[in-house]
Amino acid sequence: MRCIVHFDADAFFASVEQAADRSLRGKPVVVGGLHRGIVASASYEARKFGIYTPMPVSRARRLCPKLIVVPVRFDLYEQFSANIFGLADEITPVVEKQGVDEGYLDLTGTRACLKREPDEVAEKFRRDVKDWLKVTISQGLARTKLLSQIASKLNKPDLLTIIPPDEERERAFLHPLPVKWLPGIGPTTDRLMQSAGLTRIGQVAQMPLDWLTELVGSGAAQLRDFARNIDDRPVVTARPEALSYGHQETFGEDTTDFALIDAKLRQLTDEAMSRVRADGKQIRTVTVKIRYTDMDEHQGQMSLPEPTDVEMQVYPLVTQILRRIWDRRVRIRMVQVKLSNVYSGFSQLDLFGVRQRQRDLAIACENIRHRFGNKALMRAHDWMLKKAVSCEP
Ligand SMILES: [Mg+2]
Repeated sequence: MRCIVHFDADAFFASVEQAADRSLRGKPVVVGGLHRGIVASASYEARKFGIYTPMPVSRARRLCPKLIVVPVRFDLYEQFSANIFGLADEITPVVEKQGVDEGYLDLTGTRACLKREPDEVAEKFRRDVKDWLKVTISQGLARTKLLSQIASKLNKPDLLTIIPPDEERERAFLHPLPVKWLPGIGPTTDRLMQSAGLTRIGQVAQMPLDWLTELVGSGAAQLRDFARNIDDRPVVTARPEALSYGHQETFGEDTTDFALIDAKLRQLTDEAMSRVRADGKQIRTVTVKIRYTDMDEHQGQMSLPEPTDVEMQVYPLVTQILRRIWDRRVRIRMVQVKLSNVYSGFSQLDLFGVRQRQRDLAIACENIRHRFGNKALMRAHDWMLKKAVSCEP
């Protein structure tokens, strides 16, 4: 029988700020979004005043006049994240990163290998993170990814929730919960489910499949399996740097045409970002790699001030990196774009911003291409690449 623990850091950004600056501990602290003035993370002390994410910082200040607002510092959070995963790696080789502040650990082997019970091991992990890093995590320990993930987020902060591996008790845990706890149910699907009268997971478990398909589309079977407590997904180990979205392409003919190479990089960015959005993630860092005709390689990296799932925000970085790394007067054979430092739950922070309009546009473009083919709608760089191809002898 498998034994999986999911951990999720509590109020991660705010906690890291409190860990890094002793004077912030025990105080109402929020981490504010860069330009839009939205609360990105609120300490538990701040939450007592009714402050939550996302909320305008101005409103949070009215709710709590003594509120301390600090700017986001992603470099710092990514450092803490690496430290948390470092501690996780000491416990088991089977660790799956879900984002900067959450992941799965497969503890199935701990009884045999460490001669310790999984709950002891999980407890020790939680204590280590707290003692060494001064941030708290919550954990769910269960037979499946589904149950462990829900359990870690349901009871917070600084808690370990154990769902005993017993079909009856698992269902008793799962079925009364609101449907939004099922993976893949975003606010839109949640509203749809509500309007169809489906409020509890137990109800979803009993729906006929064709009926459910009509409601939510192709994900219906998976959704109903989850609702029926069926989940065989294994914990998949990947090195932290493997959690990225990479696309590369080799040119038909090696080239020195800057505009053409830049256009290709943008097209690769589009493809990678479409996957980022499909996964409901955001990324902060972009890496560009070029390979010269003599196989020599150069690469460069830049990070955005905050995570995004919109390709338009990444284009300027891609161009800058290309300019910086292409320092030989040699033709280029292959280019690669990699998007990394993956976050989740960050797109909601710019509900009111320009980026939401850019996202709407990107999604609309994607839908049109999906329906009518890739050539139905082209960005300037797609058009340029198409022209270049049709000019080839
Ligand atoms: Mg968290």
